Amino acid sequence: MCGIVGYIGKNKAKKFLVEGLSMLEYRGYDSAGISVVSDNIVKTCKTKGKIIALQELLKTNDIDGYLGIGHTRWATHGVPSDNNSHPHNNSSNTISIVHNGIIENYSKLKNSLEEAGYKFLSDTDTEVIVHLIDSYYEGNIVEACRKAVKDLEGSYALGVISSNEPDKLVAIRKDSPLVIGVNSDEKYIVSDIPALLSRTRDVYFLNDNEMAILTTDSVTITDYDGKVLNRDLVHIEWDLDSASKEGYEDFMLKEIFEQPLSVERTIGSKIKLGEKVNLENLKLDAKSIKNIFIIACGTAAHAGMVGSRLIENLSHIPTQTFLASEFRYQEPLVDKSSLCIFVSQSGETADTLGALKLCKELGARTLAITNVVGSSITREAMDVIYTYAGPEIAVASTKAYTSQLTIFYILALYLAEQTETLDIEKQENIKREILNISSNMKKILKCLDSIKNIAKIISTKKDVFFLGRSLDYITAMEASLKLKEISYIHSEAFAAGELKHGPIALIEQDVPVICVCTNKNLFDKMISNVKEVKSRGAYTIILSREKSDIDCADIILDIPDTIDILMPIISVIPLQLLAYYVTKIKNLDVDKPRNLAKSVTVE
Ligand code: GLU
Repeated sequence: MCGIVGYIGKNKAKKFLVEGLSMLEYRGYDSAGISVVSDNIVKTCKTKGKIIALQELLKTNDIDGYLGIGHTRWATHGVPSDNNSHPHNNSSNTISIVHNGIIENYSKLKNSLEEAGYKFLSDTDTEVIVHLIDSYYEGNIVEACRKAVKDLEGSYALGVISSNEPDKLVAIRKDSPLVIGVNSDEKYIVSDIPALLSRTRDVYFLNDNEMAILTTDSVTITDYDGKVLNRDLVHIEWDLDSASKEGYEDFMLKEIFEQPLSVERTIGSKIKLGEKVNLENLKLDAKSIKNIFIIACGTAAHAGMVGSRLIENLSHIPTQTFLASEFRYQEPLVDKSSLCIFVSQSGETADTLGALKLCKELGARTLAITNVVGSSITREAMDVIYTYAGPEIAVASTKAYTSQLTIFYILALYLAEQTETLDIEKQENIKREILNISSNMKKILKCLDSIKNIAKIISTKKDVFFLGRSLDYITAMEASLKLKEISYIHSEAFAAGELKHGPIALIEQDVPVICVCTNKNLFDKMISNVKEVKSRGAYTIILSREKSDIDCADIILDIPDTIDILMPIISVIPLQLLAYYVTKIKNLDVDKPRNLAKSVTVE
């Protein structure tokens, strides 16, 4: 999730490009770069590292003109490095582009461009775009872009310039944000509004599958066939702080609402009906794997717990999840027929890395699941699957969790295809429901009023308990962690069947018990447990997709219907929102809870 900027106008481009990138640095800071058309050639300056490194480099590079583009990178394909930094240029340095997104069919395009003689200088997916535009270029950059985008699959916001046509900046958008800013004699493109606010508050929003041709005096928006589209100018009223959160009050809320998109991005082209799961370069031989260990900390460990159930159920390979800090010191029975999977949003979690090194020493096959390209875990593990959730800024993980779950659904299917433990009909049904996750997420994100009402009740309590069985128990654990880590309310999750073995002693009059009851097979058993706590005075909140009457609930929250195994990725969302709203009511800092850090690089 990079940040892109572009400028065309009566003033020099460099100043705005660098200022704009600084405002977008929260979107990624693996590298930064700009290209400017000056004296009819494209001059590019780019470097690994933050914008400050680019600023240093620019002190000794005289590049300035009236047309330019810039980029701050959050790597998805290719490690953070000078070569992989954007902008990327064609070999004659006449066309330069910046890109935010992922080109899913880049390997195929790269092969055919290489066959046609194109030389690649980076490992990015992005570089195919500039060579593709070059291959279609016949003196009109807009036409070349129009042809090129028809070959692209995936997501992209693009800024494109050509030294042959220094009077034009081309902007293109599909599934990645792009906004056009307008002044009388300057036009801008940015990934996000904060980068514009020092210059203008008048913007056009570009929609998916649209492109814009910007000149100093005009903006023309068209579809991919060149049909001109009318668009109203919008005046932005937000202040700078709320703009960097895209209008949301906090990063956590923004990240919760981003989940339909981040899950879609994580699925990408890995799942297609009627086709085998495509995990890009991953080549595991499931039949030779004796057992699987999933190792992680905190929220990632909860994703792992769901993952182990899925993998074991679908592929029948014995799978267990361990907390990294415990696993390292229990002399695990790992050997070369074991697959060890390490899950870490940042890819830097110290205990997870320690466990990874241990498993390597024991000869196991290692696989990392992480959100950060080039992080330590990706360098240590033999294989990597990226979650593509985009940078997660709030300390409490939300979108990284659901993206990790998404990967586990896909991985479990991938293994089951090989072990042949799942019939085709079931496989296709699971795929269909995976492809439907994001629309189910959108439904639950509309139930804010009922969640806010529950938050009012919870915010006055000292203790909260969560109950669940099977996968719902793992959701209960994740919900309990989310609530305690940001609202500081004591909360615990129990496996509902364990109640009678101790925890029920804690139930007193009006203690809230949040019961996750989404598993169809276990619904009646769960309801019996809810009745047990209700009869001891508990205030019961039930998450359910059953429409039948439930007479033991003080509040029922409806959850959209899907298959049992997919419930964890849906039912966690209202519980993330609940933790969020309780914390807001208590007037605490949601994004930076006390005593915690985003990336835990110490044991
Ligand atoms: N896929 C591009 C890269 O890795 C852009 C990354 C992004 O927008 O997140 O360079």
